[in-house]
Amino acid sequence: MPDQQQIFSTLKEYFGYDSFRPLQQDIINSIFNGKDNLVIMPTGGGKSICYQLPALLLPGATLVISPLIALMKDQVDGLRTNGISAAFINSSQAASEQQDIYQKLIDREIKLLYVAPESLSFLDTILSRIEVSLIAIDEAHCISAWGHDFRPAYTQLGYLKNRFPKIPLIALTATADKATRQDICTQLNISNATQHLASFDRENLSLEVRPGNKRIEQIIDFLTDKPNDSGIIYCLSRKATQMLAEKLQNQGFIAEAYHAGIAHEKRSSVQEGFINDTIQIVCATIAFGMGIDKSNVRWVIHYNLPKNIEGYYQEIGRAGRDGLPSSTLLFHSYADVVQLQKFADMSGNKEVQLAKLDRMKQYAESLSCRRKILLSYFGELIEKDCGNCDVCKNPPTFIDGTIITQKTLSTLVRIKEQEPIGTIIDVLRGAQNTAIHEKGYQRIKTYGIGNDISWRDWQQYIIQLINQGYIEIAFHQNNKLKLTERSKKVLFEGEKVSLAHLKEFEKIKEVAAAQSKKVKANTLFDKLRELRLGLAKEAGIPAYQIFNDATLKEMEQQRPMTDAEFIQINGVGKQKMQDYGYQFIKAIIDFSKEKTKKKKSPKKGNTHKETLSLYRDGLSIEEIALKRKLAQSTIFSHITKLYQEGEPIDLRQFVDKEDINAIKKAKIELNDPEGLKPYFEHFEETIDYNTIRLALNIIEQEDRIAK
Ligand code: ADP
Ligand code: MG
Repeated sequence: MPDQQQIFSTLKEYFGYDSFRPLQQDIINSIFNGKDNLVIMPTGGGKSICYQLPALLLPGATLVISPLIALMKDQVDGLRTNGISAAFINSSQAASEQQDIYQKLIDREIKLLYVAPESLSFLDTILSRIEVSLIAIDEAHCISAWGHDFRPAYTQLGYLKNRFPKIPLIALTATADKATRQDICTQLNISNATQHLASFDRENLSLEVRPGNKRIEQIIDFLTDKPNDSGIIYCLSRKATQMLAEKLQNQGFIAEAYHAGIAHEKRSSVQEGFINDTIQIVCATIAFGMGIDKSNVRWVIHYNLPKNIEGYYQEIGRAGRDGLPSSTLLFHSYADVVQLQKFADMSGNKEVQLAKLDRMKQYAESLSCRRKILLSYFGELIEKDCGNCDVCKNPPTFIDGTIITQKTLSTLVRIKEQEPIGTIIDVLRGAQNTAIHEKGYQRIKTYGIGNDISWRDWQQYIIQLINQGYIEIAFHQNNKLKLTERSKKVLFEGEKVSLAHLKEFEKIKEVAAAQSKKVKANTLFDKLRELRLGLAKEAGIPAYQIFNDATLKEMEQQRPMTDAEFIQINGVGKQKMQDYGYQFIKAIIDFSKEKTKKKKSPKKGNTHKETLSLYRDGLSIEEIALKRKLAQSTIFSHITKLYQEGEPIDLRQFVDKEDINAIKKAKIELNDPEGLKPYFEHFEETIDYNTIRLALNIIEQEDRIAK
């Protein structure tokens, strides 16, 4: 068994890393002790090294079972860039190619052999002619019908342990639940396996949930400060993936759809393009992403509510594998819940599915730290709130919701608990549609008493009431809303109800297509990224396989300018040092020279002057914001400042005439108040601060002229 020193030097030499992530070292040692192992680690946790590193130090070859043929190539390419000899066998290869690999295996020239479970049977002869030292089964949950990705071909893998009883077997998965774990061990015949259960916390992923209205606008807004970042948008239906990709294309994004109904070649080309950084966004059904190891996915959006937390967590886990901060956003809509309920109803194990969906809903509707809920699902308790989810960042404030609740409940009473949420809201808001009129609901007493609250807000409030137990949904009666024991307390005993105050999603104006255009590279990180892309294209491999984003970031911070400094960077191993060290060091030196030169030339003035020069070049506010990587509101404040300093800027171009007039009126009505907030509140947050500020400047100017 190799000593720890040897293990660490292998980690640095071949993978470029200085330290292990949690559990990796224990798992590796357990393999060297000849044990079977079951590894449960979240997506992006670093499972691969657990078998790849031992493979390098063990005498024979390591057999890796991996579910998707298409992805083996990437994994093998990745190993090769690290100077590790690896190959894959699958049915798409020519016989001569396979013969070649067999020969290399016999000659002990290959350390890792990737195989799809389907191909195992025809490997039997060759397996008897080589020394196998380790067997790794990746995505091992595919063996279990309890898991969420069951693959029939995996069920034959039980034979491996019988065939190689003395060889350590390691099964790896990101699916944590107990039933699945048990099932994996039983089916693989490794009931004595040591289980390694890693923390499921992925601190670098921010969590956010928003109501699913105006999703496209929200997505475009979300993307404006991420013009170069790769991301995935998961949708429930194939149609939605296509619609969304098209909309994003129209906005100038490089986006493609991906789902099982798309022709195979097209699908592979989308996947390739995404991996190689030539396609920025993939709008996909859950068919996309399994086993994709792209480490620089910077964000994941769920356009629809996922059907369970396992799936959701695995999907968001595809963001930020390199450990850098990454964003996730989930849209929650009641329509999705109803749809998923229908699916669950039709499925074989309905109760389980419904219970899982319920947990998903609780997560989406939570008013306390979301990460706590996620982790508790995987049996982990954290003491402190995470500080990196929307609830922690922006804790809800509560309002007295008693009247809102009374209005809702008495509507339920009057329509005899015979309607689902949509109709209830229609009644409360006094909607004029045929369904309402046919049933005569316009005559009941509460009709229209809630028209001061928007449809979306009613929906959110009612969801809160459901969560607090004041209302129940009868899923088996077309989702009719029903009263509960608790609702009686409000109706008859004067119980007070507290509801979370709803935050307004800031209205986004039409976003110019120009906004999504690529920002020209200007930081060292951008330069290194460009260099990496060029090298990757030359080598025909994904960019992140050369160095991942975390490694580039470290280069940006440390600025290594000699070989000795360069090899210190986390993520730089021996092979990559040899292959790419020179070019990266040169880029860093060039960049530093360039910067010094710039510093000597006359200084660029202060920040709003920079805005001015771009404005004079004819760029719109959106374009300036994008180019300067600043918020539009900041640019607006620059413009106002410039205007106040006497720059001839016509502010009228930025504000609607109607808004100016309304603000003029408000100014009189409110008696010329101090600051902007009184206006903002006066208009019930429908006119934003920028507009108010600009309009007030315009009005003052008019006054001055009039005088
Ligand atoms: P998983 O299979 O668990 O989803 P991977 O094995 O693909 O995760 O690893 C995710 C990312 O983490 C990869 O980019 C990998 O290079 C990186 N990584 C793994 N181990 C370490 C480590 N000890 N230090 C730094 N990065 C690591
Ligand atoms: Mg993996």
